[in-house]
Amino acid sequence: MAQAELEVIAAQVRACTKCKLHQAAKQGVPGEGPAKAEIMFIGEGPGFHEDQQGRPFVGASGKFLEELLAGLSLTRAEVFIANVVKHRPPNNRDPEPDEISACAEFLNRQIAALNPLVIVTLGRFSMARFFPDARISSIHGQAKLIEGRVVVAMFHPAAALHQQALRQTLVDDFKKLPGYIARARARLDTIAQQAANKTAPPEAPPPPGRDEPDEPKQLSLF
Ligand code: URA
Repeated sequence: MAQAELEVIAAQVRACTKCKLHQAAKQGVPGEGPAKAEIMFIGEGPGFHEDQQGRPFVGASGKFLEELLAGLSLTRAEVFIANVVKHRPPNNRDPEPDEISACAEFLNRQIAALNPLVIVTLGRFSMARFFPDARISSIHGQAKLIEGRVVVAMFHPAAALHQQALRQTLVDDFKKLPGYIARARARLDTIAQQAANKTAPPEAPPPPGRDEPDEPKQLSLF
């Protein structure tokens, strides 16, 4: 079901003419990864190599992203990788607001179909989708609960390739991901358990002194 929806979105992206970006681009780059992926990475937009191949993060940034994933014993085949805009901005210029909003529906539908445990934004354009007023230097590497999802903003791999100092920052931020995934999973388990308890027939009251928190404990960790 999620797989089918992702394929529909991909076909619509490839045929999309909603903004001017399709005019100079060779092809749309919908994004890729398994429908059961627990982590979704969202970059900015396709560059030269992505435009040539129709796949996200296949150039120098992609190579670095793969290295960062390998540090967590993950491969790109296990995660979903998408972008804010799905056609290459000419000469790799920044995507413009009208282009980002024309493409937003595709990204929103990909997020809904995947329902990932953790979303990682790479760079300031994808960060702005979740944290419109934030500065990446202040919030990078921190997990936040946005619209009921765990979202972590990180620097773009390309920025780390140009600025040596950011390389270690990205490596360190990536190291936090397994912990965030575990907490996100625990949070969902707690919510599911609470929902099951609500629908279950009433039980004997808890023994005196036992505290029943209303909110899952994990929430405070985000
Ligand atoms: N940079 C991005 O933001 N996305 C890509 O797909 C490649 C490079």
